[in-house]
Amino acid sequence: MSEPRLPYGRQWIDDEDVDAVVRALRSDFLTQGPEVARFEAKLCEITGAKYAVAVANGTAALHLACLAAGVRAGDVGITATNTFVASANAIRYAGGGVRFADVDPATGLVTRATLEAACGSLAIHPVPGAQARTPRVIVPVDFAGAPAPLHEIADIAEATRAVVIEDAAHSLGATYTAGGQTYRAASCAHSHMATLSFHPVKHATTGEGGAVTTNDEALFRELQLLRTHGITKDASRLKKSDGPWYYEQHALGFNYRITDLQCALGTSQLGKLDTFLARRRAIAYMYDAHFAAQPFDSWLLPLESPAHASRVQSAHHLYVVRFGPRASSNGERADMRLRAYEMLKARGIDAQVHYIPVHTQPDFERAGFAGGSYPGADAYYAGALSLPMFPRMQDADVTRVVNAVRDVVESFS
Ligand SMILES: *Cc1c(COP(=O)(O)O)cnc(C)c1O
Repeated sequence: MSEPRLPYGRQWIDDEDVDAVVRALRSDFLTQGPEVARFEAKLCEITGAKYAVAVANGTAALHLACLAAGVRAGDVGITATNTFVASANAIRYAGGGVRFADVDPATGLVTRATLEAACGSLAIHPVPGAQARTPRVIVPVDFAGAPAPLHEIADIAEATRAVVIEDAAHSLGATYTAGGQTYRAASCAHSHMATLSFHPVKHATTGEGGAVTTNDEALFRELQLLRTHGITKDASRLKKSDGPWYYEQHALGFNYRITDLQCALGTSQLGKLDTFLARRRAIAYMYDAHFAAQPFDSWLLPLESPAHASRVQSAHHLYVVRFGPRASSNGERADMRLRAYEMLKARGIDAQVHYIPVHTQPDFERAGFAGGSYPGADAYYAGALSLPMFPRMQDADVTRVVNAVRDVVESFS
């Protein structure tokens, strides 16, 4: 019997989760009931943020955050080129243009220097269709589980008066240390808003789902309004009144609601977040221990822990290795990575690449957002491969991946 395929990531649903959804199904509310508020309260407890607004998916969370930040036509948003397209698309949905920031090839994260370069470039090379010389929003992306240098980004944002939206889809449960204090990802200690995703490959799932966290009451109210068509029934906010049925549309919002079924699942999943995170950490340590030694370390290296903070506790969303960290060209790295991808696939291991730099996507080129050079992201992308990393992996699965990678590196020599 052949072994089951190992994906790079997948959910872990148990009977408790199933029971939670069934209970919601039998209740009076399939959507807009008490489960949404319970899920939001749990997110506040976990992140430490004051407010959470749960929405249909992580992309909707980014879209609403950009709208609440005031992004409109003519504005510019800066985000990392090493991210899922949604981080950049959200700026465009709101009418803004995109300027990409390069990343450190060893971490996949933006740095103070790459962000300052992106901000500075606006004065010399404006984004097509935008007059802005400073960004309306900066959307740092926490990558693979490690938070971006948020406390440094907060300084840059203050100088340019940009709104910071932390894309925390990879970092639920992560912490970082700045100035001797420890902060939680998505706590919004150094950002105005943070966005989360509950897609099945993320730390906890609702099927599809997302959320925005914030400590700012005005942003919270705006996000709530935009989530349901821009409609309010709050008597204290109505401009007119015409009876008990009356509601008002105050902004052009969307139907970005999440259902009670999904939130029942989400609350049940979040109850297991610490167990999931501990297991992800254990798997990362196992991989690290192998890859730090021969024969691996001359051919590949794990992602580095970012140097921006004295201590980062990753949430280990992805386990990325970089092939050919000291190779002389990106072409050489790319050849090694392709060979690895194919050899692993032949052995039932479905590795993945996170991410194809967004500045290379044809639709971003067409829109004029692809200019500039991104040597860090290009070098990172050439060699990067995400190996299986999900809490339900057994130790034997980790060994199976390590053995397959050993055959890959031995085929190089
Ligand atoms: C998953 C993800 C998103 C989008 O989340 P969805 O829930 O799939 O819409 C955005 N940004 C990053 C970095 C992600 O990994």
